[in-house]
Amino acid sequence: MALSIRNLSKTYSNGVQALKDVSLEIPKGMFGLLGPNGAGKSSLMRTLATLQEADSGEAWLDDLDVLREKDKLRQVLGYLPQEFGLYPKVSAQMLLEHIASLKGVASRGERRELVEALLHKVNLYPHRKKELGTYSGGMKQRFGIAQALIGNPRLIIVDEPTAGLDPTERNRFHNLLSEIGENTVVILSTHIVDDVTHLCNSMAIISQGQVLEQGRPADIIEGM
Ligand code: ADP
Ligand code: ADP
Repeated sequence: MALSIRNLSKTYSNGVQALKDVSLEIPKGMFGLLGPNGAGKSSLMRTLATLQEADSGEAWLDDLDVLREKDKLRQVLGYLPQEFGLYPKVSAQMLLEHIASLKGVASRGERRELVEALLHKVNLYPHRKKELGTYSGGMKQRFGIAQALIGNPRLIIVDEPTAGLDPTERNRFHNLLSEIGENTVVILSTHIVDDVTHLCNSMAIISQGQVLEQGRPADIIEGM
């Protein structure tokens, strides 16, 4: 097992219990976390990305203590949040190079090379000098994937990526995700069943903060 989540619970200060004793065994490859709005998906994603504290529980990425070794985690994490704050006046190329330097790619030449390769990969190379504020929804999501891929992450968290995308953009996004190596743990949170059946080798269903089922999509979805 690659990512082991054990008995995570989280209650917000307003009393909403967003995660109730969540345990998941997530293998390498694409994992779908499927659940309706308000199920607790973002709460789980933000907790794993160590952007908020859990009340109790643990998460281990192999031998890395995810919730406690935050600095180490962030070096191996690629995170595409649901609400992706972009700097509207900055170009894709500049922001990616900046993120690469934050993630420790020290040499300017190396950064440029890495960023150009990523821009090609996500089909944004022709738009690399445009301000991010002018990007369409699909372009923003592809930019989000590019930034999440910087630094060869071992864990990639993608929160509700296809909400608001048209079918063409969704397809492109699916293709891009499916190119991520099988040696990486990729968690895709979504309320769209098709995202999971098209992309994921394993999945869980979450509702009202609780895991209802986990297993292979073919076994779970057919039974729905
Ligand atoms: P915590 O309990 O973790 O301290 P807070 O209740 O203080 O969290 O809220 C943290 C942030 O989340 C705030 O910016 C707040 O506006 C936002 N927030 C509050 N309620 C919700 C909600 N129901 N859904 C999404 N975000 C929310
Ligand atoms: P999902 O991503 O599946 O839509 P969330 O994790 O965003 O679910 O929300 C789970 C529950 O927690 C919801 O009831 C939501 O309103 C609440 N919630 C989410 N974030 C916050 C927050 N920061 N503060 C208070 N309540 C929150």
